[in-house]
Order: sequence, then C-alpha cells, then structure tokens
Amino acid sequence: MSKRDYYEVLGVSRGSDEGEIKKAYRRVAMKNHPDRNPDDPEAEEKFKEASEAYEVLSDEEKKTTYDQYGHEGLNAQGGFGGGGSTGFSDIFGDVFGDIFGGAGGRGGPARGSDLRYDLELSLEDAAQGTQTKIRVPTMVNCAECDSTGARKGTSPASCGTCNGVGQVRRSQGFFSVQQTCPKCRGRGQIITDPCNKCYGRGRIEEQKTLSVKVPAGVDTGDRIRLSGEGEAGPGGGPPGDLYVQVVVKDHAIFQRDGANLYCEVPISFIDAALGGELEVPTLTGRVKLKVPLETQTGKLFRMRGKGVVPVRGGPQGDLLCRVVVETPIKLNSKQKQILKELQDSLDNDKHSPRKTSWFKGVKTFFDGFSA
Ligand SMILES: [Zn+2]
Ligand SMILES: [Zn+2]
Repeated sequence: MSKRDYYEVLGVSRGSDEGEIKKAYRRVAMKNHPDRNPDDPEAEEKFKEASEAYEVLSDEEKKTTYDQYGHEGLNAQGGFGGGGSTGFSDIFGDVFGDIFGGAGGRGGPARGSDLRYDLELSLEDAAQGTQTKIRVPTMVNCAECDSTGARKGTSPASCGTCNGVGQVRRSQGFFSVQQTCPKCRGRGQIITDPCNKCYGRGRIEEQKTLSVKVPAGVDTGDRIRLSGEGEAGPGGGPPGDLYVQVVVKDHAIFQRDGANLYCEVPISFIDAALGGELEVPTLTGRVKLKVPLETQTGKLFRMRGKGVVPVRGGPQGDLLCRVVVETPIKLNSKQKQILKELQDSLDNDKHSPRKTSWFKGVKTFFDGFSA
C-alpha cells in the first residue's frame, strides 16, 4: 500500500513553518479524533495518518530526511513504525493539552468565570466621567473551609480513580488518550465530609460592592475591566475578571453620535426672519448662538468643541444645533389681523425662495405629462 504525501495529508504546502504544520495537524486531528467519531474506521485511519505525518514533519531530523528521500528514506532509517507507538501520547500532550482536559490537573485549579455587569449611565456622566458604586452577585472563596470544600477540621481525600493526579489515561485501540478524571473532575481530591457553609463547593455566593471609575468619554458598548473581580475559581483557583458594560441612557435634549452631539432648537419665525441671539444648552451649561437674519428651518449650526472628548483620545467633538422654525399658536384677532396685513404686503416670488423654487419644480413635472 502506497502512503500519501505527508504534506498532502495535513493539507499544507512544502515549506510551511512549524506553526503552520502544528495548526494544520490540529485541525485534521480534531476533525477525525476518535472521541468525536466513535466507530468510524475511516476517521480513525485519517487520524492515524495525520498523527504519523505530524510526528515526522514536527521532527527536524525526520522532516529533512523525508523532504529529501520521501517515505523510502524514513523506512531505510527505521524511522516511523520501527520505534513503536511511543510518539502518540507525547504529541497529544503537546498539541491538545489545552483542549482535552487541560483545565484541571497539571495547571492547578481552574480560573473562575468572568462576570459581566451592565452599567447604565446618563449622557453627562458618560461624557464627563464619574465614580460609581455597583453591587454584584459573585462567588467568593469560602472562609469556613478555606475553600477546600471539606468540613472544618477535615481535609479532602486523594482521588482513588486518578491517584490524585486529576488526569486519567484511556486506551482506544493503540492510542492512549489523556483525559480529565471523571470522578474528581480534575481536582485530584474527593470530599467525603463536605463543609456545612458551602456544601463542598469551596465557594459561596455573595453580594459585593465595587467602586467603578468611569473614564470621561465612554459610550454604549465600551467595557471597563475590573481585573480579578469575577468569580472565585473552584477549589481555590484564581478569580476571573469583571467586565462593566457601559449603556448610555437616552437624553431628553441631546442625541450622541460618537464625539458629536445633536440637538434641536425651536425658534420663532420672527427671530428666524430678523435674526437674533438664542440660548442653547450644552453639557456644561448654556451658551449663546447668533442666528443670522433670513434663517430657514432645519439649518444646522455647529458649535465647535462643545461635544464629547472621545475616551480613546482625539479631538473634542462638536455640538450641532438644528433650528426649527415654529408656527405661532393661540393668536388673538388683532395678531391675526397683523399677519394678514403682513401677508398682503408680501410678494411671494421675492420673499419665499423655497416656495418659489418648489412651485417651479411642480410646474416642470406636470409639463412633462402634456409633452
Ligand atoms: Zn466551605
Ligand atoms: Zn480523580
């Protein structure tokens, strides 16, 4: 039976470096791993093939021989196959250590989970930064049993299944696969007399109050990491992190778009016509906005540097005020009379630029039908 080319087996090109070969092997081996493909001889064959290819290509000396002389060269050397199956489990430990059962055992107790807390902020606090306190439910180490989980005065017993190692070797065909011990779940210890405060878990749930410093300029979606403030690890493992997720609440006046703020400012049609000075709000107080005469509704005025300073640096944003001309309401008969007199004095073509151009457009549109 002729063997397939090792590079072809792993799906890499000749000249691939060590990292690429390792990655490729990992991909092929994971896909065809006996644990994932029970009773599938084809997968098992591919898995063996990939392992053989990796054993050769990951070994500088064997790789050089293979590159020069191919399979023949290795056979002549008594390289692969001659040495027995010792290579497999070693490769396994190296490449899969962090996937299969790597959480417990050798690396010590597992790290606790990361936590997430949604923090609602007003736009003002988000823009200017603030210091706030939050209460988070979390798992902390049990002081009663010193997080061993065993009743005070007793200590956990060594696990008999794995002899306290936390890992067991399981044979599958001629492979030997290292796995987390199913009895003690990798801890290497069994609690026979559990702690009466944490019921053997070694951790208890507690509300803790944390102080969070919110930097100026944060926006919805930003995260603040509080290192080590997540859950305590099981069995005295190191704690995870707490991620404070920022959610900026809607504001009554301003809409935010990155560093810029937008707002609408109502203006009387008389101020719009004659020009005038408006007071507009900013995040830090009121400022004056000069509106020129003949200002049309919808016009946008940019107030430079009145926006938000971005949290990741960069120039301060602007405040963009859109003026909206307001129609007067509840007019008395005298006021209505004045407006009528005003209307009679107006010559539309001259005083209403928008209306004039709009009617011209409509006329052109209808002329198109009669053509
Ligand atoms: Zn306890
Ligand atoms: Zn065990």
